[in-house]
Amino acid sequence: MRNRKIIMSEQDIPRKWYNIQPDLPRPLDPPLHPATNQPLGPDDLAPLFPMALIGQEVSQERWIDIPDEVLDIYSMWRPTPLYRAFGLEKELQTPAKIYYKYEGVSPAGSHKPNTAVAQAYYNKQENVKRISTETGAGQWGSALSFACQHFGIECMVYMVRISFEQKPYRKSMINAWGASVVPSPSNLTAAGRAILEKDPNSTGSLGIAISEAVEDAASREDTKYSLGSVLNHVVLHQTIIGLECQKQFEQTSDYPDVVIGCHGGGSNFAGLTFPFVKEKLDGKRNIKFVAAEPASCPSLTGGKYEYDFGDVAGLAPSVKMYTLGHDFVPEPIHAGGLRYHGASPLVSLLVHEGVIGAAAYDQLSIFKSAVMFARTEGIIPAPESSHAIHGAIVEALECKKTGEAKTILFGLSGHGHLDLAAYDAYLSGAIK
Ligand SMILES: *Cc1c(COP(=O)(O)O)cnc(C)c1O
Repeated sequence: MRNRKIIMSEQDIPRKWYNIQPDLPRPLDPPLHPATNQPLGPDDLAPLFPMALIGQEVSQERWIDIPDEVLDIYSMWRPTPLYRAFGLEKELQTPAKIYYKYEGVSPAGSHKPNTAVAQAYYNKQENVKRISTETGAGQWGSALSFACQHFGIECMVYMVRISFEQKPYRKSMINAWGASVVPSPSNLTAAGRAILEKDPNSTGSLGIAISEAVEDAASREDTKYSLGSVLNHVVLHQTIIGLECQKQFEQTSDYPDVVIGCHGGGSNFAGLTFPFVKEKLDGKRNIKFVAAEPASCPSLTGGKYEYDFGDVAGLAPSVKMYTLGHDFVPEPIHAGGLRYHGASPLVSLLVHEGVIGAAAYDQLSIFKSAVMFARTEGIIPAPESSHAIHGAIVEALECKKTGEAKTILFGLSGHGHLDLAAYDAYLSGAIK
């Protein structure tokens, strides 16, 4: 019988995260204070983050130890399986070999607990009692609720109003793990009240929800803030995905020629690809990288590489990244987790230096690929992850034309069990 899943032993879970900063072609531009436009110091960030995470944000150490308590919680769902997509290959009649790393086996159903657990751990170490955050589609809010509950930390989630209404079961998960969630814009913060005054029916946005969560943390002594993507320490924690993958490939006779991930703020993409990007930067292998983003929110393929705020109100630091502008309001596509105006500064730098490529796909195409995947591989993917599936299918069809038997790896960042309304919309022809 052929091997469909490449499984690792729990004992082989990597013990260190990979920090790409010392290996970059040039250093990152510093984040700037939103009010003064001067480079940020650790003291500026201290009201928002624990010192350990601020340290990781700027660390130049290549390998950073994963604490034992974090590894212990990781072992609830890690190592995650690497699959060979025999069913999809057959359907496409491609000579390519397609592999995918599946992060949907985590309790929250995505890659997000990889950093949520680490962040909750470092907050606990510094005696933080309460954490505020924002969530779009609810994946991050549920992941952080799960993590905070493990460490006895109170968790407050500002959820983009349109998603709060469209995805009621994410709220149920957040509550089941003991956290609180309110629709954003809310009347609990000045940022929320200002938006509501202008537009009482505002459906909200990730940028607005970030403003609310940052204000919440900055105005309370007992509270810190947590972000589920974009920042360097988040990307660091997610490298567990790619590091596991490299060990899993050792069990095969293959190695990826192309690595693809979907891109919202960049965390699952970077987490999967950066350990492989290292091979390229070291001159060991020539690998193609594709960040797959939605055509309606194309920060990497349609944005500018410049300093911009991370949020709408301009409370969050300004960072150099590919951005569509902090007041950009994306269409309400079903891939809520990809509706962010900016991108990780690390991913942005590597795109700008030509190390990483990007592609944008429209919503109809990604759902067509999602359904093909569900029917050939069984798993119903998150709409976000379906951008990576589509990217892999594009590459595999190219191989069919050229006759090349490339090895394609993509990240399946989550399952779509709480996105079934989006599938109904697609299957009934409502997505055009
Ligand atoms: C949040 C999310 C994303 C997008 O976030 P990144 O930081 O770009 O990874 C992608 N897929 C799933 C399943 C998500 O929950």
